[in-house]
This record gives sequence, structure tokens and C-alpha cells, in this order.
Amino acid sequence: MTEERPVYLSPKNRTVRRRTQQAFGRDGTATEPAEADSSDREWPACWDAAASLLEWSDPYECIVDTENAPFYRWFVGGRLNAAENCIDRHLEERKNQVALRWEGKRGERRTYTYYDLYREVSAVAAALRELGVEEDDVVTIYLPKLPELPITMLACARIGALHNVVFSGFAPNALAERMQRVDSRALVTCDGSFREETVIDQKRKADTALASIEESLPTIVVDRLGSSHDTHLGGNQYDYDDLVEAFAGANVSPVPREATDPLFHIHTSGTTGEPRRMTHATGGYLTGVAWTAQTVFDLAPGTTIWCTADAGWITGHSYVVYGPLLSGATVVLAEGGLRYSDRHRPWEVIERNGVEVFYTTPGVIRTFMKWGESFPSSHDLSSLRLLGSVGDPIGPDTWEWYYTYVGEERCPIVDTWWQTETGCVLISVRPGIDELKPGSVGPPLPGIEIQIVDEDGRELPPGEPGYLTIDRPWPSMLVPLEGDRYWILAEYWQAFSDPRADSWRYFTGDRAIVGDNGYVTIIGRDDDVITIGNRRIGTAELEAAITTVDGVTEAAAVAERTIGETVLCVFATLEQGQQDRTAIRDAVADAVVEHIGEFARPASVVFTPELPETYSGKTMYKLLERIVNDRPPTDSDTLRNPEVVGELTTIWNQE
Ligand code: ATP
Ligand code: MG
Repeated sequence: MTEERPVYLSPKNRTVRRRTQQAFGRDGTATEPAEADSSDREWPACWDAAASLLEWSDPYECIVDTENAPFYRWFVGGRLNAAENCIDRHLEERKNQVALRWEGKRGERRTYTYYDLYREVSAVAAALRELGVEEDDVVTIYLPKLPELPITMLACARIGALHNVVFSGFAPNALAERMQRVDSRALVTCDGSFREETVIDQKRKADTALASIEESLPTIVVDRLGSSHDTHLGGNQYDYDDLVEAFAGANVSPVPREATDPLFHIHTSGTTGEPRRMTHATGGYLTGVAWTAQTVFDLAPGTTIWCTADAGWITGHSYVVYGPLLSGATVVLAEGGLRYSDRHRPWEVIERNGVEVFYTTPGVIRTFMKWGESFPSSHDLSSLRLLGSVGDPIGPDTWEWYYTYVGEERCPIVDTWWQTETGCVLISVRPGIDELKPGSVGPPLPGIEIQIVDEDGRELPPGEPGYLTIDRPWPSMLVPLEGDRYWILAEYWQAFSDPRADSWRYFTGDRAIVGDNGYVTIIGRDDDVITIGNRRIGTAELEAAITTVDGVTEAAAVAERTIGETVLCVFATLEQGQQDRTAIRDAVADAVVEHIGEFARPASVVFTPELPETYSGKTMYKLLERIVNDRPPTDSDTLRNPEVVGELTTIWNQE
């Protein structure tokens, strides 16, 4: 531990700062200057300040151990427990404050105070132990957006077990694979869930996966469907409520974990290929998340945040569960996917719960745009003070709509760039401090150093597009488990590092441009960038151009390779009621020519009801590319809307 212990960021001494409660100018900066950010200190001391947001059972001896770079070890020697940090330490001051508000698809509501969470998490922790789960074991959680999802995650953390949340929409084989990859010792699932009018038999999917694993793993089953549905519990399967009742009042001391001990496993979205299994370490991950919860999302005790991500993705881990609870905030959890819900529901959820911070994806915002502004406009959204976006580039048009109709020209928007691998947001404007610039994700956060480089790893000047790399380690970075080092080196470090000089640079897989002002514009994934002639065009840039056309809501452009040349093909979705397709087709081509250049004029513009998307809401360019190049689309268990594949192939072949 460094000698100078910063007290000004410590949760006990910190004066709670809610920057977004101040008035905002159109540029997003506060009208009164914000107090200086203490994390503007030198690296790595800035991370010492961030780590002081947590309660440590034992102090760390060093901030970052660079001995085995690039496998950095953060806060070595320190010990802490994640559940204790999220729950126990709030009990003294805000035991009766609401920690979680849940809204079910059938109109049910449940609220949990911090004390309620404490009791239920302790009971589930005791039950897991009773079922044989020990420290360092992995528990897979296969639950939709139910309160039991964060509760079980925290119960694992309390006893030092690792959680491995698998998105509940995945099919049995995807679940089995993700359980086997982490040697899961137990499973938590539910009887079923609702999708529109139908009931999904989650338990049957789980049983199928379990049967293929050929091991009788202890399984806890949450009763979501109630008395209308009778679930058969086989041997070694237990009803969640029975366990909570049996272990009510259990006193389970949080197990102090080494800062470098793993906290959980999670898989990437699988947008570009096979999803990769990630591991995050306790001290570093929690530091990154606690600090960004405060700095980027302006969370403070009592702030109500609704992050619409499923906890099956890193966004759900960091900003539905850990970030908000570490901050003593109130989490809103709404069951079901927003895009399948009643069009008033998103706005009702905000209105009813007094949501202050709303965080979602550009895909969801584009759906809201498609539905029209009359829906948000007919609700009282005055509780909102900050909006966020993540996962894909948010084009300027979508940004403007979000700013105008959801934020009512009052709420700053944080467009946050990060990855499963990075654990927390690394590039974003800080509300109240940095100016907002639609189309750009903003500057790297203090403590984060990025560089844009060319193929040979040479740093490029501002304004030149290149590979987005990260120059210095950050606390919430991915950590290797045994057997991971080789592929992690190959995947993230090899391209731009010089091991002989012990110089390490992380490659994000994305391309970007940095402006003179240090603001970063994401061009797209390196794999998705299209080369026409000698020019490389980013998917983000193309989409931003195409969606300027009235009537077009979403677009994706891919390269069609014919003998001797590559041409551009555009897939677009239209606003409801748009009839004049020929005019729109011409307008799309003109928009590409105007914004990018004549060389990029699309060879075809195809309209489709939907674009292929991952479950986490990202456009799957790879699949479109296979379709236009007459290669049969490969099966992907990460595709949310598989039905669109056949439709797209037919539409394409009719062109
Ligand atoms: P996989 O790695 O399995 O192909 P994935 O990269 O989609 O899937 P995630 O870790 O969920 O998995 O997503 C991280 C990626 O999402 C980033 O590398 C970037 O391409 C994109 N991304 C995230 N936030 C933003 C943003 N604000 N603007 C533009 N792109 C973003
Ligand atoms: Mg990725």
C-alpha cells in the first residue's frame, strides 16, 4: 500500500457528489465547474484512490505487480469479499433503503432492502455450502432477470465460490458447453419464464444440458411460474424457496478473498466467432467497477439506476449488480426483453421507479425510435438525469433522438466503450466534466492510456484511423487461469507488443480515430472493417451515413467479393409505414456517396424486417457477409433471431 492514503474518495469521508443534479448546458458540462477529479493523479497511484472506494479486510502491499507482464496482478496481498462490499458494509447506514426493485412481466413487483438482500444472500450461501459448494468451486447460474439472479451471484461471492452466469435464452447445448468449460459444480435455474403469451420451460432446457454432462450436479430451482406449473424435482434438485426457508437466519461470514483470486467467469458475446471464456479477479474488477459507477454513472447512495442489460453479459455484472450495489444505489430490474414488451412499458418503468440513470444499447434505442417519440413523450420522465449507451456505435441520429426525446435535452449521454475483457468502462465522457460529442465515445478515462497504431504498431497522429490499443494495464482487466496464458497472449497481446523490450500493448480488436481533442471515435471491429479499393471503411461510419436517410432505422453494410472487385451491400430496416422503397434505396446510395465517397456507392440496398443480432444486441456482420458471398450461414448459438437467417437469404437471392 502506498503511504499516502487518499481520504477524499473514501466512501466514509467522501461528500456525495451528484454531478448530474446540477444544471447542464447543451455541451453536457455542468454550468458550475465540477470539483476536480482526484483520480487525475499519476498512474498507478490513481488506482490506489479508486481502490479506496472498497472495504478491504487486509490492505494490499502493492498496487500493481508487473513482474509477469502482461499478466499483471493488481492489489497484491490485499483481501476482501465482494458480497460484503456490496451488502454488509451498507447495513449500518442504509439497512432499510431499497437495494433492488423488480418488475415481473405479469405486473408483479418485489422490492428488497439492503437488509433483505443480506438475509436472502446469507441463506442461499448457507444452502450452497450445504450442497457441497466450496471456496473456488464454480456455480453456473441460468436464470432470466429475476431477483434470485443477483442474489445467487452474491451468495457465491460470499462463500468465495465463482459464479458463471449463462444467458437464460441459450439452448441446452450452449449451457452444457459453458458449464463444462468452467468445470461447474452446481447449477441454479428456474422452472420457466414468460415470453409473450408463451411459457418457456427453462427447467427442461437445464435438465437436457445436465443429462449431457452425465454428472448429478446439485441444482437449485427457482419457482417463477407459481402454482400454475408443477415442476418435477429429480434427485439432487432442490426448490429455491424451500432452501431459503430452511436456512433462514443463517449467519455466513463473508470469506475474505485474495485480491487476485477470481470472482467469476463470463463469456464474451460471440459476435465475431466462438465466445471466449473470461475470468475476472476480485480486487481489480471491483475497483474498476466501483470507480466507474461513480465517475461515469454518477452513482451515489440512493441513486436509482436501470441498466437494461441481462446479467448474462458483462454489462449486467458490472452495472446491474456490482457497480450499483458497491455504490449503495437502488437497482431496477425489469423482467423480459424491452423490445418484446408493451411500447409504454419502458417509460412506465422509469416513471414508476423514479429512474435517474438509464443505460441501454443503441439497438434498443433504435427500436424506441421505430416505435416513435409519442411513447416517451406521453410519460413523466423528469426523474432521469443521465443516459448511457453501450455495445455498438450509437450513430449521431440515434444519439440526437435519445438526447431529445428520452433525455428531454436535459440529461447528458455517456456513450461508454468497453469489453467483456476490460471489466469496466474505459472510454467515456464523464458527465459534468467533459463536453458531449455525438458520434464519439469521448476521451479515455483518467488512468487509461490508449494509442492508435498502424499495422506495425507505430503510433498514428490524431485524425488517422488505426487499431485501438491500450498502453497501460488497468485493474479490472481479464486474468488468466491455468491454461489460458497462451491464447490470451495470442489473442490480445501478440499483435502490438515487444516482449523482448518488455513492452506490452493490449489490442482491443477494434479500429478507431482519436481527434485533436483526445476524443475517440470507434470505427468498428477490425474484422468488420470493409476494404474497397485501397480504402478501409468502418461499419460505424457507414451506418451513421445510411441512417441519416429519413425512414431508415437500422443499417449494416458488408462487402460482397466478386472476381476482381469488392462492392458494398447494404441491409436496412425501415420505419413502419415506409412504402417508397425505390426512393429510399436511392437516398441510401446518395448518403453513402455524400458521406464516404463515390468509390463506396453500394451495389445493392436490401430491406429486411430485422438484422441478425446476438443476444446481447449486436449486429452480426459475419453472418450477413456469408449470405452475400453465397456461403451457407454457420450455426451460431449466440444469434438472438435465428429465424431471420432464412428470410435474409431469400430476400438476398431475390435481389
Ligand atoms: P466477441 O468478442 O465474442 O466477438 P463482443 O466483442 O461483441 O463478442 P463484448 O465484450 O460484449 O463482446 O463487446 C465488446 C465490443 O463491443 C467492443 O470490442 C466494441 O467492438 C463494441 N463496443 C462496446 N461499446 C461500444 C461503444 N460504446 N461504441 C462502439 N462499439 C462498442
Ligand atoms: Mg470482443
